[in-house]
Amino acid sequence: MRKRIAILGSTGSIGTTALRVIDGVNASLTEEEQFKVVALSGHSNVKLLAEQVRRYQPRYAAVSDTDYVSRFQRLVEGQNVQVLAGTEGLKKIAEVEEVDTVLAAVVGAAGLAAVLAAIRKGKRAAIANKEPLVIAGKLITSEAKKCEAQLIPVDSEHSAIFQALQSGRHNEVEKIVLTTSGGPFRGARPENIHDATVEQVLAHPVWRMGRKITVDSATMMNKALEIIEARWLFNMTPEKIEVLVHPQSIIHSLVEFVDGSVIAQMGIPDMSLPIQYALTYPVRMAGIAKKLKAEHLRTLTFEQPDFRVFPAIEMGFEVAQKGGTAAAVFNAANEAAVEQFLAGRIKFGNIVELVRHCLENCNYRDRATLEELLEADAWAKKEVMECLKNHQLR
Ligand code: NAD
Ligand code: MG
Repeated sequence: MRKRIAILGSTGSIGTTALRVIDGVNASLTEEEQFKVVALSGHSNVKLLAEQVRRYQPRYAAVSDTDYVSRFQRLVEGQNVQVLAGTEGLKKIAEVEEVDTVLAAVVGAAGLAAVLAAIRKGKRAAIANKEPLVIAGKLITSEAKKCEAQLIPVDSEHSAIFQALQSGRHNEVEKIVLTTSGGPFRGARPENIHDATVEQVLAHPVWRMGRKITVDSATMMNKALEIIEARWLFNMTPEKIEVLVHPQSIIHSLVEFVDGSVIAQMGIPDMSLPIQYALTYPVRMAGIAKKLKAEHLRTLTFEQPDFRVFPAIEMGFEVAQKGGTAAAVFNAANEAAVEQFLAGRIKFGNIVELVRHCLENCNYRDRATLEELLEADAWAKKEVMECLKNHQLR
């Protein structure tokens, strides 16, 4: 089994959970059999990264925000760790020889170069960081095939689909159904959420996650990104993908096969299980995930998503269908708009409006190289700032 791990974004929500998962699995293994943390990365939270270095003794640590490198170096003085800096440093730790599994847990497009680097070295890429797949899914999946690198999903819905797909063949799949809790605004009216505060948006009813994905869960941009993520990870046309609201988040997603059999994966809503499965696959091991009990199954409800409240979902299908540079624009406009929302400069409702504006005004290309995808990403981020400057928002 592959057991030498690099965690890109080890100071975040997924990263810290992954370290707890590794501790949990290692507890029942001999020293020889244990998972080893070979490399870690953080952006600006160098205090936590330094604590992780002291505890896990990785050979490499990358600080992606170069402003924090010298502070980090002081914090790890005397430790036997090689410090790397910037996006280049992040990419380096994804490709070092000693690593066989890279857990991509950085947030946003920033993780793209490192994910590609890991794949090109034939490593297993355990992917939580969905944005690179959204932007460059075609390239990432074709490179993975070429370089015989495994792409294992960590996103809970995609982990569920990945597990359920093992019950049949690709051409036997009728459809895949991505579930969603509905986020904090399930059942709301569109006019009532336009001015929602950061605090209301960050109060997710089920999941505790980083700030960006929590905002995405409130707009349902997260589900839109996941439609595109699924399209590439499982090589499914968008017509075969559906979204179903399931507020309890016990069923993490479902696959329906042509014979009518529906295979669902269940568990309590906790990222430790999909993270662990991506690390131990194809083996299953005892770990820290809490077990599902009968009481969790007492009430499982389902409803159709309300597209008037969450236009992002329909946009997700549209963009998945369109391909080319559309998804790069879609993702980048969202990243920029979420940042502006969290900084208090735009309203909640403006996020999806800005994404729509960028999609309608971009210079769309059907086929795109990596360079063109990155150009589309940069254009959309700039366009969002232009709209703010010109006061084009409600
Ligand atoms: P987070 O904000 O908690 O952590 C992000 C990590 O990335 C941190 O370690 C941070 O230091 C690092 N980082 C931030 N900006 C960076 C940059 N510009 N360059 C390099 N590193 C940077 O986020 P999270 O909730 O852990 O989510 C990480 C990824 O996993 C996201 O793509 C998210 O969509 C996905 N995901 C998260 C969850 C979850 O439960 N948190 C579930 C499914 C998918
Ligand atoms: Mg998810």
